[in-house]
Amino acid sequence: MASALSEASPAAAGDLKIVQDATCTFCGCVCDDIDLTVKDNHIIEAKRACVLGKAWFLNHHIDERPSCLIKGQPASLEEGYELAAELLTAAKYPIVYGLSDSPCEAQRVAVSIVDWISGTIDTTTSVCHGPSGMAFQGVGEVTCTLGEVANRGDLIMFWGSNPAESHPRHFTKYSLMPKGMFLPNGRKDRTCVIVDVRRTKSAKAADIFIQIKPRQDFEALWTLRALAKGIELDAQDVLKQTGVEMAVWQDLMARMKACKFGVIFFGMGLTMTRGKHCNSEALLALTRDMNAYTRFVAKPNRGHGNVTGADNVVAWRTGYAFGVNHARGYPRFNPGEYTTSDTLARGEADCAMMIACDPMANFSQPAREHLATIPLVTLDTKETPTTRAATVAFTVATYGINTGGTVYRMDDVPIPLRPAFDSPHPSDFDVLTNIEQRVKDRLGITA
Ligand code: SF4
Repeated sequence: MASALSEASPAAAGDLKIVQDATCTFCGCVCDDIDLTVKDNHIIEAKRACVLGKAWFLNHHIDERPSCLIKGQPASLEEGYELAAELLTAAKYPIVYGLSDSPCEAQRVAVSIVDWISGTIDTTTSVCHGPSGMAFQGVGEVTCTLGEVANRGDLIMFWGSNPAESHPRHFTKYSLMPKGMFLPNGRKDRTCVIVDVRRTKSAKAADIFIQIKPRQDFEALWTLRALAKGIELDAQDVLKQTGVEMAVWQDLMARMKACKFGVIFFGMGLTMTRGKHCNSEALLALTRDMNAYTRFVAKPNRGHGNVTGADNVVAWRTGYAFGVNHARGYPRFNPGEYTTSDTLARGEADCAMMIACDPMANFSQPAREHLATIPLVTLDTKETPTTRAATVAFTVATYGINTGGTVYRMDDVPIPLRPAFDSPHPSDFDVLTNIEQRVKDRLGITA
């Protein structure tokens, strides 16, 4: 990857450096209009960033740990690369996991390593929108960019998603407030419907808030599918199943049919509740059904800055977005079998490389207990419970702040990074490229 600073072209203002149109990678909105003011390798202002984005930029500091630790002791990068390659090539069931906070260039190299070592690759998608990834394979996705939503979306629905807290600029930059080409009055030209099991902070922004019974999303979505097709339903049964009066669903369906451009953004409130991928399938199928009447699209509200990039890169390298096993020399996809929390909890994996993720803090007890017993390579910008457990721990530069590259916004649009200042630590791209070369050397691959 080229030098981050050479890509940034920052404007100098006295001893301050201004980086215009920097990209925030804190959440899936990937806002690329942030003006950073940098002084003495410290970001002192992040213009236009939301509260989460400001915390991401302003609290950034270079980690003072060595770039490489082996069993907790400082080591050279060369020693780290060699040992990482040795561990990965010696393993019978190596796994690589994480990737949602790395640029696409690094993700691509990680997939290559897994391919060489016949390992299993998985991303944090498997613990958030994995069910949607399965549903996309089964139903397909009627979709669009966030630019189209801003310019055309006149009925904006959120299902099991709370962007007011998770994606603070979602409403203002993309979905509710912008004045668009076909919506000259912005918010006044749009109707916002929020469906959730509880009244979240986002509910305040809704014209219509529909509170459904917990764990009944599937039934609620199939109620709408039935209404879309004109199928007669028992009102008492609908109320019992969904917790919402039939008249409310009928009114919503009338609005959905009457709008010019409908959008459903959905979140983990849908994908991680009872029904999981069946819920995502129901929502995607409803969206597809609505296109018999009007233009309608659906988009998952993605969390991590480049989790969408991880889905794209793993999919264009293997055909599947996450949970992919290469043990037979070709990719096989099977969530539950090849997803990392499962391979660890069953004690199958015998070596792991964790990239920008912290499974020791958030996986199940059996998974964490097994991870603690196997050789572990980590790449992270900061110290975490996972890096502390590592055999080889690389401290890497922060993408978007110290290094360049490409990330995918939640609508699958690639966005370039414009970093602010350099880091003494290598990028994850550099580390992975060096490990890949040594893996190939050990396997006698000259290509
Ligand atoms: S909405 Fe997300 S990407 Fe945009 S500034 Fe806030 S945290 Fe960063």
